[in-house]
Amino acid sequence: MTPQVIAIDGPAGSGKSTVAKALSERLGWSFLDTGAMYRAITAEALDKGIDASDADAIAIIASIANIETIPRVTINGRDVTDQIRTPKINQAVSAVAAIKAVREQMVERQRQFADDQPIGTVVEGRDISTVVFPSATLKVYLDADLSERAKRRGDEDEDELGSRDRADSTREASPLRQAEDATVIDTTNLTVEQVVEAIVKCLK
Ligand code: C5P
Repeated sequence: MTPQVIAIDGPAGSGKSTVAKALSERLGWSFLDTGAMYRAITAEALDKGIDASDADAIAIIASIANIETIPRVTINGRDVTDQIRTPKINQAVSAVAAIKAVREQMVERQRQFADDQPIGTVVEGRDISTVVFPSATLKVYLDADLSERAKRRGDEDEDELGSRDRADSTREASPLRQAEDATVIDTTNLTVEQVVEAIVKCLK
């Protein structure tokens, strides 16, 4: 049987990671944070002195990189779990994620990861419902007010978050958008438990 996938998309700070992780624990499924993959490549590129706009060089990094996201985020064996949440990476990651060749590499790995899981995976990102798993068991789009999202992130203010959203939503390759058949949940005034509960209800 093909392992199942719950796809969760949405802008930064909408609650995707926290909700996806809690949901995966509730269901006993695996969890995949695809943003961590793009962040790990960004960390590797910047550490090698490669600019985020150098698409060819970054595509090579992506094609040969060994990336793990669980239990720690590593790239080529190097632990970048803390580094990938720094302002430097926040500012550069959208440019790296806009590179088509990088996306192709990551999408293939994300599908392979889900294929390898015993029951199912909760996968979160920007293009999970629309591109990576268009036949997902369930598609969820989380959103929240910009001020609430910035408050949750803490490390990025409204301006930074807003410009990352714009970059992610307007790029040519797999932009962030709601899938037509996605369940949309505004998490602004909801707790993590309430969002998880709402998603579990959709599964029944
Ligand atoms: O979710 P997170 O904020 O960690 O994602 C970091 C960045 O990675 C996003 O701003 C976006 O540019 C990119 N991303 C993406 N596609 C995904 C997941 C993340 O382009 N599926």
